[in-house]
Order: sequence, then C-alpha cells, then structure tokens
Amino acid sequence: MTAAIKSTEPCFNDEPYTRALEATILHVDGDQLLLDRTIFYPTGGGQPGDTGTLTLADGRQLTVTDTARDPDNPELIWHRVATDDTDDAPHPGQAVHCEIDWDRRYRHMRMHTCLHLLCSLIDAPVTGCSIAADKGRLDFDLPDPVDRIIVTEKLNHLIHQGLDVRHFYTEPESIASLVRTEAVSPPVLQGAVRMVEVTGTDLQPCGGTHVQNTREIGPVICTKIQKKSKTNRRFSLTWQDNVA
Ligand SMILES: [Zn+2]
Repeated sequence: MTAAIKSTEPCFNDEPYTRALEATILHVDGDQLLLDRTIFYPTGGGQPGDTGTLTLADGRQLTVTDTARDPDNPELIWHRVATDDTDDAPHPGQAVHCEIDWDRRYRHMRMHTCLHLLCSLIDAPVTGCSIAADKGRLDFDLPDPVDRIIVTEKLNHLIHQGLDVRHFYTEPESIASLVRTEAVSPPVLQGAVRMVEVTGTDLQPCGGTHVQNTREIGPVICTKIQKKSKTNRRFSLTWQDNVA
C-alpha cells in the first residue's frame, strides 16, 4: 500500500534547527504515520529517533513516541504515535503541525557533534556509537590505553575553539577512505552520501543532526574509558554540569 509513496522529505538534514513544520499525512498503519515531509529525526547512527507532537486541524494532539526509517525503504520515515481507542484515527490527507521535543533533540545534536570531536582524537576504527540526551559513548578498536583526563582536556579545547560544522553531499565512491565505522555502510539516500565536516578536525559520512559550531556543545567530561574486549575500548562522555 505504501509502494506508491517514494519518500518522506527529510527536512532535518538541511534544517536541523527547525522545531516546527506543517506537513500532510500520507499513510496510516496502526499506530504509525507517514508524512510527506518531516523534521523528526529517525533512529540511526547511534542517535535516537525524535519525539514530539503532531497537531491536527481540529486541535487534537498526537504524541510521537519514536521515529524510525522503514526497514524495507529507508527513504520512508514512520512516526509512532501514542494511540487512544476513543479517538478518531488520523487519516491520509489530513494536515498536521509537527513539533519536535527540541530540548531533547538539541542535546542529541550537541553530544553527536562532540562524538565527532572524539573521533578526531582517536586514531582507530569506530566499532560502536550511542547517543542520549545526557551522555554519549563511542567504542574503538583500540589496543592501547588512553588517559581520560587528556581526552577531556583535548575535547574541551576543540569545543572552546568554536569550530564551524557543515555538511554536504557527495558520490558514494569518493569517500571509502573516510568511513570511520567498521561494518556499517555510510548512509546513501537518493544516490548521495551526506558528509559532515568539523572545520580542520573531522570529516566523515554521517546522517545525524549536528550543531553549527562546536562552542554550542558546552564543557564535557570523559567519565570513563573501559576495555570491553581485547581490541575494544569504550569512551563515555557527559556534560560537566551532570557530574558537578
Ligand atoms: Zn554525525
């Protein structure tokens, strides 16, 4: 039934700071909705899917509890809504006013960008990534130990430098040497790979949302570096505010 719907316009890619958007429901499948365009980031690359609200023209508000790409067609983005049996189900063609939970998303953007800075400090393949609203972590295939105090100092130095962050799109074939995460193919959508660059510091394919300048990240701390296996080290980060 969704075969005719080719894609959801992913407005979060080029407008990560947009908090509200008008859209139209294209399809309803149980508690999941497809929109013609969206600002809700779908789970991916270690970054959680966005939450928020969809408000119908009659004022009824649907709570979005998660957002995810369609497993069979990643260009379709599903919004999972909390349903109430007494409500009329939303239906295709209805207009919705979308609002994301901005506080949560902005923290994801800040931590996600911080993990790019961590990537630039550690010369080893990335084997795992996880982002939350209060912390983040990266795993590296790194045999040698690293001092977490030095990591903290270097991260905050890069943050304080106020480095600009930009993204652009390129051909998948041109970026093989820049892929940092082993065993995970870079996100290719509509034939192009999205590249993210922290000026002079980090350049890699990434489909997540980032802040425009590293100063927005704020002071962070590397809370621990754990040896998870012979060649796997986990770096855990949080904001200094969280441990003060
Ligand atoms: Zn990223």
